[in-house]
Amino acid sequence: MHTFTYDALPGRIVFGAGTARHALSDEINALGAQRLLLVASESEIGLARELCVPFADRIAAEFTGIRPHVPVEVAESAREAAAGADLVLCVGGGSTTGTAKAVALTTGLPIVAVPTTYAGSEVTSVWGMTEGTRKTTGTDRRVLPRTVVYDSDLTLTLPAALSVASGLNAMAHCVEAFWAPRRNPVSSAVAEDGIRHLAAGLPTVAADPADSAARAELLLGAYLAGSAFAVAGSGLHHKICHVLGGAFDLPHAQTHAIVLPHVLAFNAAHAPDAAQRIAAALGQPDPAAALHELGTKLGVPAGLRELGLNEDDIDTVLADILALAPTDNPRAVTADGLRTMVHAAWAGTDPARWTA
Ligand code: NAD
Repeated sequence: MHTFTYDALPGRIVFGAGTARHALSDEINALGAQRLLLVASESEIGLARELCVPFADRIAAEFTGIRPHVPVEVAESAREAAAGADLVLCVGGGSTTGTAKAVALTTGLPIVAVPTTYAGSEVTSVWGMTEGTRKTTGTDRRVLPRTVVYDSDLTLTLPAALSVASGLNAMAHCVEAFWAPRRNPVSSAVAEDGIRHLAAGLPTVAADPADSAARAELLLGAYLAGSAFAVAGSGLHHKICHVLGGAFDLPHAQTHAIVLPHVLAFNAAHAPDAAQRIAAALGQPDPAAALHELGTKLGVPAGLRELGLNEDDIDTVLADILALAPTDNPRAVTADGLRTMVHAAWAGTDPARWTA
């Protein structure tokens, strides 16, 4: 029997190639905005200005001081730039969306987001900020964009390596949504379809970043991934990556891509419905092997050792991971089980072999 409580998130989505050029103006008008703060990084501000030509007279200020993980001083400067504005329009990746969210968090200004990567932040009410090396995150409905304009044309310039990294992060959101703490039948259905679109788009975009159809496929998968993550939250996989990344300064996206098949292999027998649905979405009988193979095809290193992690390092973080491991993970997380899994991810063992 299904029993669940679901706080569905509101938000208007406009999706399609060319929408940022053709529909953004109507979306801004629909919200009655007269004085906009335009938020975009130095690299994306040219594109952002171009998209704003039909309503350029309503851009009251620009903020371009984007930095990864939204340092608090960046948030403060962006909030100052927002003085007198009635809407924040952000054009860019997760760092840019995160900066707009920092403004909305304290000002309550509505956001219109035009994402240019596959991060998915634009459909979540999660904000994040950093002070020195300490990252703080929280959830607040005020930071959830009112409208998201997804235009796959804007992702054509995202280089293949960044596209793969960003797309595999989205894949991790989908897979983990099957056992994350606030999952429900809706988030699982969304995650399953997200996997299908991501798996269809990733290899083609990696081989040909200019393929428009594959870009649209990948962006749709990223939207679904963000939506599933927004509802279900994160689970064991994200805790492992968070601890490993923080302790050893490992590259975020590659760490996710390497660890994910192993967490899936760890949980699969204890979450047979999830395993079967992930396998169906990937079109292969063994979901962990399929993800491992997809990563290899996309040029992801096989094991964490190739990222510079030492074998001895594993034992030094097990206690930290165990302390964060969700108690409702499908399979009970023991020190021995965790060590075996992380070791396999370190060595790059085929997930079908260490779980056999
Ligand atoms: P990013 O925004 O830092 O962008 C990465 C790089 O790609 C930047 O140099 C940017 O200029 C460039 N770029 C962006 N779009 C481009 C395009 N179309 N063409 C060419 N270059 C382009 O990285 P990201 O992966 O999008 O976002 C990561 C951040 O988002 C992290 O801080 C992460 O914590 C956050 N995030 C937050 C949530 C949430 O729900 N709050 C969810 C996912 C990610």
